[in-house]
Amino acid sequence: MTSTETLTPKKRVSQARTFPVVEIFGPVLQGEGRMIGAQTLFVRFGYCDYKCRWCDSLYAVTPEVVHEHAERLTVDEIAARLRALNPHTPWVTLSGGNPAIHDLAALVERLHAEGRKIAVETQGTVFREWLRACEVITVSPKPPSSGMMTNYIQLDRFAALPNANLKVVVFDEADYAYARDIHLRYPHVPFYLQVGNPVGEDDTATLLAKLDWLGSLALADPAMGGAIVLPQLHVLLYGNRRGV
Ligand code: SF4
Repeated sequence: MTSTETLTPKKRVSQARTFPVVEIFGPVLQGEGRMIGAQTLFVRFGYCDYKCRWCDSLYAVTPEVVHEHAERLTVDEIAARLRALNPHTPWVTLSGGNPAIHDLAALVERLHAEGRKIAVETQGTVFREWLRACEVITVSPKPPSSGMMTNYIQLDRFAALPNANLKVVVFDEADYAYARDIHLRYPHVPFYLQVGNPVGEDDTATLLAKLDWLGSLALADPAMGGAIVLPQLHVLLYGNRRGV
């Protein structure tokens, strides 16, 4: 803000508002979905409306943990932390938890003003208008092995976004059948199949064997001809560590 800029009451409120940020890190190579291999900074927001059995980010989900460990940061503070990490990295990924729980409209506006492009990772349960302004929305509905139920009314709204892509993590054959149903329901949306890996089972040989298994299923399935099959690149590179 320049010294001559006048703040409207609405802008003053949005600048004072804080968000629970569990971690800010990067730049790293994005490990998943449509953005795989892209150089990005990450902001991980606390809290989630799901609690998946195999969640690898429970430190951003469990309310008591988030309440104790998350920093409450304003838009200005988040933008400053990102600049300090790297002012030139083109992408910022907003992740969680479920970042769509929060009203991030002011943050999106700020990051765009600073020349960043924005990718969002969400399971597609809470629709927000600010999502329309982001460049890439990776929507990751959760398969049966997660223990969660899919909200198809919300998912329909996400799938109608021109900037959306769908990604399903697959741990077993029931998950694969779910992924197949999702792809058939939204054939116009770019679709990514990704190998699931429980924390602690992230050695390279196991990950590649699972990728081979998932790829074989898709290759033999005419309905999945348009699906792109990916490993979790970040797990291959860094393991299931935090902050990468
Ligand atoms: S939706 Fe994502 S962050 Fe939330 S519990 Fe499931 S895996 Fe974890």
